[in-house]
Amino acid sequence: MNSIKHYNTLTEYYQKKYQTKVAKIALNANFTCPNRDGTKGFGGCTYCSKMGSGDTAGNPMHSIAQQFTEMKQVLTKKWPNAAFIPYLQAYSNTYAPLEQLKELYEGILSLDENIIGLAIATRPDCFTDELYAYLEKLNQRIPLTIELGLQSSNEETARKINRCCSNAEFIDCVNHLRKRNIEVVAHIINGLPNETEADMLQTIDFINALDIQGIKIHSLLLLKNTVLYESYQKNPFPIQSLEDYVSITVKQITRLKPSIIIHRLAADGIAEDIVLPKWPLKKLVVMNEIDKRMRKLNIYQGDDFR
Ligand code: SF4
Repeated sequence: MNSIKHYNTLTEYYQKKYQTKVAKIALNANFTCPNRDGTKGFGGCTYCSKMGSGDTAGNPMHSIAQQFTEMKQVLTKKWPNAAFIPYLQAYSNTYAPLEQLKELYEGILSLDENIIGLAIATRPDCFTDELYAYLEKLNQRIPLTIELGLQSSNEETARKINRCCSNAEFIDCVNHLRKRNIEVVAHIINGLPNETEADMLQTIDFINALDIQGIKIHSLLLLKNTVLYESYQKNPFPIQSLEDYVSITVKQITRLKPSIIIHRLAADGIAEDIVLPKWPLKKLVVMNEIDKRMRKLNIYQGDDFR
């Protein structure tokens, strides 16, 4: 950990692992989700945008190759020697027949010789034994990261946000992936309706108890055209302030297992779709406030890990 960041950053982790600058390229493979098509639920998680929480990923009207090339051109101007990790971000990117998934993943990996890994966001209930076996082999060829949505370990909150996936399913999936040596990143949201500070800290304890390598934390965004925003209009609930988000997130970081890499600490969204709150739009301010607080209190990731 360096003197500016009092926690494990993804940039440093990649630099150490790959000895080069690594840029992630977010892609949209235009999947759906079992929580949208009726297999597990309808309407999706209440906060989820119509783009399947992949609003800043590539344009699904373009082919994956085109999305990759467009983004690569932008990133190469900034980092001419960067290596790339394509990141399947929108919807559930293991929710398709195995042959279709193989074609997609292999196609992506053949796009560029500077691709050094593949990151796949999905749900814990979108795996089969055949898929686990295939991913195990793929991970031996090129490092994989599987990102799993947890949001909260409080199952009452999960019910309210219509997650339609149990903690037991999450644990089972993590264990399957780790048995195959595949890196796992858990995604959580702070400020979900009726969540207390104790709930948000408990979510960190839940993650610490599992063999998880990375975490993404961000604040709740109320987006246009979501079930959550509709219900907020009928029954408003408290919206987290920047100060509250920084305070709880710093507590979570100090509670987090020292080995876990923090992939993200701020929300991403399309400005015109964000109804409330507006402060997450200033991502740098959010990150700086977290850094400032940790430096002021002289605290580090893992200080309160138990
Ligand atoms: S599982 Fe992901 S894609 Fe599906 S509804 Fe929930 S947030 Fe959206």
